[in-house]
Amino acid sequence: AQERYASIREKPAVTLDGHKIDLVMNAGLMADLPSLPSSGAEGVGLFRTELQFLIRNKMPKRSELVAQYERVLDAAKGKRVVFRTLDIGSDKVLPYMKHVAEPNPALGWRAIRVGLDKRGVMRMQLQALLRAAKGRPLTIMFPFVAQAEEFREARAEIEKTIAREKRLGHVLPETLEVGAMLETPSLAFAPQKFFEEVDFISVGGNDLKQFFFAADRENELVRRRYDTLNVSFLTFIERIVERCSVSNTPLSFCGEDAGRPIEALCLAAMGIRCLSMRPASIGPVKSLLRRSDLQEIRKIISDVRHRGEQSVRPAVMEWLRDNG
Ligand code: PEP
Ligand code: MG
Repeated sequence: AQERYASIREKPAVTLDGHKIDLVMNAGLMADLPSLPSSGAEGVGLFRTELQFLIRNKMPKRSELVAQYERVLDAAKGKRVVFRTLDIGSDKVLPYMKHVAEPNPALGWRAIRVGLDKRGVMRMQLQALLRAAKGRPLTIMFPFVAQAEEFREARAEIEKTIAREKRLGHVLPETLEVGAMLETPSLAFAPQKFFEEVDFISVGGNDLKQFFFAADRENELVRRRYDTLNVSFLTFIERIVERCSVSNTPLSFCGEDAGRPIEALCLAAMGIRCLSMRPASIGPVKSLLRRSDLQEIRKIISDVRHRGEQSVRPAVMEWLRDNG
C-alpha cells in the first residue's frame, strides 16, 4: 500500500466522475512541516497555533511568534497555510494563564471567546501573523465561531491591527483571507449575509459532531456511540454545503473524519471539496477517492435515507467491497 500511495503522491485527488478534491494537511508544530512535500498535501488546511503555546512554560513574546510563523511560511514554500488563532480552553489549558474552573469546559470559555475577552493576546497573535507574512499571502481562521457577530468583532480586530501596522511603517501581507470554523450547529443557521462576509468556512468536525449529538468527544463512554456516517449528520453537512454554495463561499472540512477514507468519501459525496487531515491519511484518502464515483456514493446515501436506516456505513462498505 505504501508504494501505491507514493505512486500517486504527485497526482491530484480526482474522482472517477471528475470531481477534484483538495487534500491538505493539519499541522501545529514545525516538526509537522516536512510532511508537506512528502505526503502530497496541497497545503496546510489547519495550523493549530495553540500547540506552540502549549509546549512552553511562559507566554511567548511577539517577536518569538513572528519568528515561528515566518519559519512555518518559509517551510510551506508558497503553499497556502491556514493559521487558526489560539484555540485554548476546554481540553487545552495554558499552564501560564489564569485558569478558571468551569462546570462544562467544552461549552465554556474557549477559543474565539477567550480571544474576544482577552484582546491583548489576540492582538499580539494577529500582529505576529501580519508581520511574519509581510509581502506574502496570509490566511487566518477563527475557531469556534458560534454566531456571526463574533466573527465580525474578530475581523474588526484584524482591521485595527492592520491600520496600526501601517502607521508603524510595517510591510503588510500581499493578500489576506479571513475565515471561520464552523464547529457549533448554531453557525450553520447564521444569516446568509454571514456566509457572504467570510472568505471561507472550515467545518471542525470533531467539535461539530460532539455538539450535534451532544456526546463529549473526550468521554470514552459516549465518544464512539454516534457515527459520522449517521444520516442526520450527513444531512446537516449537506445543508452547510448548500448554504456555502449559495454565496460561493469556499468550504473545507478539517476534523479527524476527513482522514478516514470512507468518511472522506461520503463527505466528498455530500459536496465537500477540500479535506484537511493528518499527513499520513492523504495517501489512503486519495487512493480511495481516485477509485470512486461520487454520484454512485450519493445514490447509495440517498437510498439509505429513503429506507430510513440510521447510518450509511454498512451500505457504502458493501458497495466498496463489491466494486472496490
Ligand atoms: C475540530 O474540532 O474538528 C478541529 C479540527 O479542531 P480541534 O480538534 O483542534 O478542536
Ligand atoms: Mg475544534
